[in-house]
Amino acid sequence: METEAPQHPPWYLEPFEGESISHYFGRFRRQEVISVSTPSSLSKAAGIGTALSRWEKFRFNPRPTQKELEAMSKLIGVEVNKLEALCPPNGVAMVHRSTRLCAVCYREAPYHRIEWQFQSTEGCEKHRLRLISRCPACDEKIPLPFEWKEGSCQRCGMKFSSMAKRQKLYD
Ligand SMILES: [Zn+2]
Ligand SMILES: [Zn+2]
Repeated sequence: METEAPQHPPWYLEPFEGESISHYFGRFRRQEVISVSTPSSLSKAAGIGTALSRWEKFRFNPRPTQKELEAMSKLIGVEVNKLEALCPPNGVAMVHRSTRLCAVCYREAPYHRIEWQFQSTEGCEKHRLRLISRCPACDEKIPLPFEWKEGSCQRCGMKFSSMAKRQKLYD
């Protein structure tokens, strides 16, 4: 039996439950100990070309290989199974033309959930609300999750958490 806790590097960042890869790596790069600021530089440091930039735009065709996940795991210290959990399950088609959001979920825990990008996801089952992909105040598109630093619309500044009242019910 392994008794010692795994040693994590100083830049180790625990993924949230159901977090999307795009949101996770945005947070990862904004850490103070991190010197890389773009998906491509991190991707190159892991030796996986530009794959990460693609994943952060929810483009999973082709899917991450075991080798790519292992290379990223080695670089950032997060276990392969946790990296896999940031990606869609095999065979799940993704929405990548827009970023979708349940603002009530966001208010409860401010991060982007991977399942919001599944084509099969019509709404938030927990809150029975349709997902939104544009700012209700100014119609600007919700940015890709790796850009969610402030958690607000990049044009008018409306907070994602305030967008809840504009979400429509779904049944
Ligand atoms: Zn919700
Ligand atoms: Zn706006």
